Amino acid sequence: MKRRELLGLVGGTGLGWSVLSGVARATSSASAAGAQRVVIVGGAWAGLSAARELRQRAPALDVLVIDREPVLRALPLSTPWLVDRTPERMPRLDRTALAAQLGYRFVAADVLRIDRAQRSVVTAQGGPYAYDWLLMATGIAYDYSAWFGADTQAAQTARALYPAGFVASELDLLKTRLQSFTGGNLLINVPAPPSRCPPAPYERAMLLAWWLKSRRIKGKVTVLDAGGGMPRFTRLFGERYPDHIDFHPHTTIRAVDPFARTVSTDGDDVHFDHAMLLPPLRASAVVEQAGLLGHDPQGKPTRWAGVDPLRLRALQDERVFLAGDLLDTVSPLFGHYPKTAHMATRLGVAAAQQIAARSRAGGAANASEPPLALPHSVCHVWLDADPFEQLRIETQYRLRSDGLITQAVSQHDNPQPRGEELQWGLGLYTDALGVK
Ligand SMILES: Cc1cc2nc3c(=O)[nH]c(=O)nc-3n(C[C@H](O)[C@H](O)[C@H](O)COP(=O)(O)OP(=O)(O)OC[C@H]3O[C@@H](n4cnc5c(N)ncnc54)[C@H](O)[C@@H]3O)c2cc1C
Repeated sequence: MKRRELLGLVGGTGLGWSVLSGVARATSSASAAGAQRVVIVGGAWAGLSAARELRQRAPALDVLVIDREPVLRALPLSTPWLVDRTPERMPRLDRTALAAQLGYRFVAADVLRIDRAQRSVVTAQGGPYAYDWLLMATGIAYDYSAWFGADTQAAQTARALYPAGFVASELDLLKTRLQSFTGGNLLINVPAPPSRCPPAPYERAMLLAWWLKSRRIKGKVTVLDAGGGMPRFTRLFGERYPDHIDFHPHTTIRAVDPFARTVSTDGDDVHFDHAMLLPPLRASAVVEQAGLLGHDPQGKPTRWAGVDPLRLRALQDERVFLAGDLLDTVSPLFGHYPKTAHMATRLGVAAAQQIAARSRAGGAANASEPPLALPHSVCHVWLDADPFEQLRIETQYRLRSDGLITQAVSQHDNPQPRGEELQWGLGLYTDALGVK
């Protein structure tokens, strides 16, 4: 099927591929006897790109992807859908069907533990799964401890009532909760970096303001930003939605009372009628369990997976590779790579190339390791909803002669978009994940 046909299908109905949820089922469950085994934990942008690349580059390897969710749901392009400005733009992908098409294995299971000494992955549903090479691609988790300490009940209540929608499995709940909003103060917040898709909260504020205005809902969006904001957006907040967006820079949430619907900041307490509460982010719990966290210059563990940025290898283990949003800092010049889907696909491919080379060399780190293909990222965000207006943010990377990675960021206005964002999104499916 050609990209043009895909665009026709997806543009018209919102959905439409042969690997849509539930269409194809068959996949082999047995691993090839004697082959080196690669287990990929996390089957989204980073993990599935890596699986596809390994299939092409190292067909002799036995590749298994494990993810707790059987269906991939996309966060990119989800915000206009959230406010009913577009149908769901990115199709949902059946991971089992995709694996069957491309010739790797997929297991839907929750990974509880990595046993690095035994080189095995322990899940709640089966296994253990032995590996020669492990790729961790588990994305992010919410760190509610910053707000609730050890009170997991309060954290669960906050998440159930006021989901942030920064993990894909929350999107439907987020939309249902939003539709019950009848007016008052709609609170969103921007935590301290690094965060997922940095412009996403600002895009959300703009589109939510449009949603309130166009539906004549008597309310406003209050944005509490731990940082100073993105100038491109904060200017527009004042120019276009002065009555609908109340922006508070340098305001960090310190505590949340989900029952009284109040957040405490360093200054005032803020009451809300509804909220999308985004706690600080971190790598998912299994990264810490596996002993793969990075360390800051003082030796304190960070919240992210410590990585050799030029090999995408875990700092603690030659057999473990890392890709996607879970990475710790990669350069003292700019810190983290932006946590975007586009970036995750490039990192997944690059990590797969490293694994393929190491497996060919019988495990030895030697001169045959390819130099890392440095990633790049493209992000399309909406500046406004009616008429549509977009911004494309690109980041490029270069290796300096002193061995440090440099970053260059550019922003491009697109005042009359003609589906470029959809073309880009579907391109990730076809070019990176291998959807046919
Ligand atoms: C509102 C919003 C808009 C966005 N828009 C864009 C955009 O326009 N462009 C863009 O490039 N990016 C965008 N992003 C960012 C993008 O969604 C992320 O950067 C991307 O999802 C990261 O991919 P990943 O593969 O690293 O992690 P994830 O997508 O988080 O995938 C990790 C996978 O690991 C699985 N997993 C985790 N732990 C376990 C476990 N213990 N056991 C089994 N499975 C596990 C999860 O189920 C998940 O499928 C947006 C994000 C948000 C929140």
